[in-house]
Amino acid sequence: MQRTLAVGAMGGTIGMTAPAPGAAAQPRLDADALVRGVPQLADLAGLRTTTVCTKPSASIDLVDVLTALGWARDQVDDGAHGVVLTHGTDTLEETAYLLDVLWDRPAPLVVTGAMRQVDLPSTDAPANLIAAARVALAPEARERGVLVVLNDEVHLAARVTKHSSTALDAFGSPGFGPVGRVHEHHPRFTAPRTPRPPALPAPGPGPVDVALVAAPLADDGRLVRAVLDAGFTAVVVEGTGLGHVSADTFGELAAALGRGVVVVVASRTARGGTGRATYGYLGSETRLIEAGALMAGELTGPKARLLLHVLLSAGYRDAQLAAALEQRSLV
Ligand code: ASP
Repeated sequence: MQRTLAVGAMGGTIGMTAPAPGAAAQPRLDADALVRGVPQLADLAGLRTTTVCTKPSASIDLVDVLTALGWARDQVDDGAHGVVLTHGTDTLEETAYLLDVLWDRPAPLVVTGAMRQVDLPSTDAPANLIAAARVALAPEARERGVLVVLNDEVHLAARVTKHSSTALDAFGSPGFGPVGRVHEHHPRFTAPRTPRPPALPAPGPGPVDVALVAAPLADDGRLVRAVLDAGFTAVVVEGTGLGHVSADTFGELAAALGRGVVVVVASRTARGGTGRATYGYLGSETRLIEAGALMAGELTGPKARLLLHVLLSAGYRDAQLAAALEQRSLV
């Protein structure tokens, strides 16, 4: 039986070329052009294509992600065996994670991109697109949620992060590793399927109403205050170490929590995540928890921001919100 693969383009380097020799790259290729550039794809499956957008990935918004989600659902409901979305690598992990939280089909949804544009001799675009297609068509990839495939590695959307701005092996899942590899043209999964929490309802297409703020050395809390004055209703703080902030920032956050603002604390470290019971000083994780903050566990700040937005949009509050966040905190 001829298999069917749906390929959706969302911009990024994988769809960029230089408008003139030596010029800097710009978005230029739609999904049809991308697929035409990799004729081997047609040997794998019958192809359906769509262009969701042709943006650099920092400009992707919720409308783009929700459009991709709706299209991907329609494709698998209409018989596609798997879906590949191409995306800029800079925010790929965020779109993949947001889709993962919302993806409610057993069929594989695979996100890929490229570190080197298609008109460079060292481009990784065709290899990544073919590897992503092979994974999306693999029965072993079913019921694993959204997967990220680059450099012949398969990562869970919840764990993956871009850890190099230039290298071809730019993506990794710190402290966890890939769940599979594409080896001699075949996907090989090295990790079993893990139970997935139920998919969440999609938020509306409006802006993300959760701020993400850093809390570095000598932070005096002004940024948190400014963000809340700007009207954000919830904030994710990327704290240091186990999820720590300065005494001044703690004061601002404690006051905000007292006013009912939702505060989630993530760790800016790559591995280990936030703690619950190690330190007791002002600004430590135990004091933040006592003040009412929720902890993001091993979810990165950018992913915790998106999850919190989805949960708040779906009406989760108080104990239900804490439980839902904990269930998805990867610890
Ligand atoms: N550097 C980017 C990429 O790899 C540009 C983007 O994220 O759109 O695709």
